Amino acid sequence: MSQHAFHPHHHEHCIHEALHAAEALCAERGVRLTPIRKRVLELVWASHKPLGAYVILEKLTDEGHKPAPPTVYRALEFLLEQGLIHRIASLNAFLGCVHPSEQHLACFFLCQQCGNAEELQNSEVLQQELQQRAASNGFLIRQPILEVTGLCKQCQHHE
Ligand SMILES: [Zn+2]
Ligand SMILES: [Zn+2]
Ligand SMILES: [Zn+2]
Repeated sequence: MSQHAFHPHHHEHCIHEALHAAEALCAERGVRLTPIRKRVLELVWASHKPLGAYVILEKLTDEGHKPAPPTVYRALEFLLEQGLIHRIASLNAFLGCVHPSEQHLACFFLCQQCGNAEELQNSEVLQQELQQRAASNGFLIRQPILEVTGLCKQCQHHE
């Protein structure tokens, strides 16, 4: 899947690929990607900027859906459970996962300037290192999520 949150690209491809992957995964697991779940996923994927639950709720309301907040939270929970999105704790916002079919360490580069976020792919080495260190400390990792803040290439030039 695309790995260019910080570069100009045809984002429709990202959205298309993400929705396609989500449908395939849900079918494979026998869980339902209901219209509201799918729409929430689509909204999260609207850009590479993590999106807060409140903004999602607002967008749905603008579209005339008028969903109750619990509906949106339940949809987000479902998407989190299925690994289709990640929660960026430092921003209290959600971001679409770029490789939802694999168990993985989720590591993000978050640009403080433009707000774009990129999930690292091929993070196996990092994951192994982390797991080894945890194991040697007798620490049990539950949510292997790393959030790295900084400036993307473009924003460094504009400083
Ligand atoms: Zn994109
Ligand atoms: Zn991910
Ligand atoms: Zn940036």
